[in-house]
Amino acid sequence: MSVKCHVKKNDLVMVVRGKEKGKSGRILRVLPEKEKVIVEKINFVKRHSRPHGQQRKGGILEKEAPLHVSNVMLLCEKCNKPIRMGHRLVEGSKKARFCRKCGEILDK
Ligand SMILES: [Zn+2]
Repeated sequence: MSVKCHVKKNDLVMVVRGKEKGKSGRILRVLPEKEKVIVEKINFVKRHSRPHGQQRKGGILEKEAPLHVSNVMLLCEKCNKPIRMGHRLVEGSKKARFCRKCGEILDK
């Protein structure tokens, strides 16, 4: 796993920079080649869509825009804070991420 993409799909993260700072949500998608993530209900952008043919109506569409991965930090549900994580082996061979503060395993 690369250092840049320290998060995975379904991770709970907090935005630590930018206009959405302090908000948290789950990662819906990771775009590793762009080093970006899409977080549930964060960074909504309004897009005007034009009518296409007869099936789709024009209007305003709200969609999550990708955030740079460095703008989010893993959130520990137990500490309720953005945290630094460490790696350790669980069950002998499985590598899991854990909260350095409280020791909670983040990969379940
Ligand atoms: Zn913790």
